[in-house]
Amino acid sequence: MRTLPNSGMNPGMSQKIPLFSAQAANAAVDLLGPAKRVLDSHWYILGREVTEFEREFANYCGVKNCVTTANGTDALELALRALGVGPGDKVILAGNAGFYGSTAVRLVGAIPYYADIDPQTLNIAADGIREALTINPRAVIATHLYGRLADIETIIDISSQAGIPVIEDCAQAHGAFRGDRRAGSFGEIGCFSFYPTKNLGALGDGGAVVCRDESIAARLKKLRQYGWETKYVVNVPGGRNSRIDEIQAAILREKLPFLDAWNSERRAIAAKYNSAFSGLPVQCPSSLDVDYAAHLYVIQVDGREHFRGFLEDQGIATDIHYPVPDHLQPAYQSSQKKGDLPVTERACARVVSLPCFPGLGPEQVDRVIEAVRSYFEQRGF
Ligand SMILES: *Cc1c(COP(=O)(O)O)cnc(C)c1O
Repeated sequence: MRTLPNSGMNPGMSQKIPLFSAQAANAAVDLLGPAKRVLDSHWYILGREVTEFEREFANYCGVKNCVTTANGTDALELALRALGVGPGDKVILAGNAGFYGSTAVRLVGAIPYYADIDPQTLNIAADGIREALTINPRAVIATHLYGRLADIETIIDISSQAGIPVIEDCAQAHGAFRGDRRAGSFGEIGCFSFYPTKNLGALGDGGAVVCRDESIAARLKKLRQYGWETKYVVNVPGGRNSRIDEIQAAILREKLPFLDAWNSERRAIAAKYNSAFSGLPVQCPSSLDVDYAAHLYVIQVDGREHFRGFLEDQGIATDIHYPVPDHLQPAYQSSQKKGDLPVTERACARVVSLPCFPGLGPEQVDRVIEAVRSYFEQRGF
C-alpha cells in the first residue's frame, strides 16, 4: 500500500482542501460505461454521441440548436464569426472576466471595448453598455460571471433597440435560470465550455454554442469544420477545425442529468458561507437564488494577500478570478487606461475564490469557515 506523506496525523486536519476536486465532483458518475461505448463503436469524431449530446443539451437549455466545439474560447470565436463580426469591428464586454471574450474578439480581428461592471454582482452593468453604444459596436458579450446571470433581460432590451446582437458567455453558468429561461437562451447565441472544472465538465476540453436561429446554427456547423458546405467544398470563410471528441460527448451525456443537483449542492455550500461570514468585513455574493449556478464562490476583501496566505497556512486553497483587468493585459494596447474602469479595477484587486464544488464535504466547508473566522478574529473582529 502507498503511504501518504501525512499518514499518522489526524487525516481530517492534515488534508488540504483544494479549490476544486475532479475526483470528488465525478465520484457518483460512471465514467467507464460511456468511454467503453465509444471504444466499442470505433467511431471517434462527429458521431452518434455528439449528435445526441447536442440534442440533449439544446433541450436542457431550452433552445433549438446546439453546435459543439473543441473548447469554450472557440465557441466564443465562432459565435462572433457566425454573426459576421470581423476586422476593425468593436465588441462591448466586461473587463473582469478572465480575458476569454477578449481572446475571441482579438482572434477575429475585432476590438474589445470594456463597459464597467455592477459593484454588487460584478457582472457587466446594463448602464455601462448603454453608455458604450456611442462607439457603434457590432456585438455585446455578456459573461455570466461566477455562474450568476447578468442583468441579461435589460442588456438585451438595450442592445436590440440599437440592433446589436448579444452573445452570452455561459462558461461558468450551465443551468442557471431566471423565470423559465436558462443561461444561453436569452441572447442571439450562448457559448459554453466543458473544461473539467466547469459546472458541466468533460475529461478534457470541450465547448458548445446554442442558439434559436437555424441559419446561425447552420453557419456554426460549417465554421467548426473547415467551412465545409459538404465534404471538401468550402463555402464559408473563416472556418477551422473545432470539434469535440465522441468520448467527451459521451461523458457529458452521462453527467448532464446530474447538473441541476450539483448546482444545488454548490449553492448550498455558498449559502453556508454567506451566513457564516455575515458580520465579517468581507463582501459576499449578493444573492444565492437559482440565477446563480455557484461556479465560483467569490468574496471581496481588503489585504487579499495576507488573507490568502493565512488560509494557505491552514491548508485551504484559494485563487483569484481574475487578477488582471482585460484592458491592462500586457499583450495588447487598449484605448482604455488604468483608472478608466474603476469598479472593474477595484474588483480585480479584492476578489478571492474559496473552495465550492460538488463533493466538498460538510467538515471541509466547516474548516474553511473556521479559518476565515479566525483570520478576522485575530484582527479584532
Ligand atoms: C472557462 C471559460 C472560458 C473558456 O473556456 P475554455 O474551454 O477553457 O476555452 C470562457 N469564458 C469563461 C467565463 C470561462 O470561465
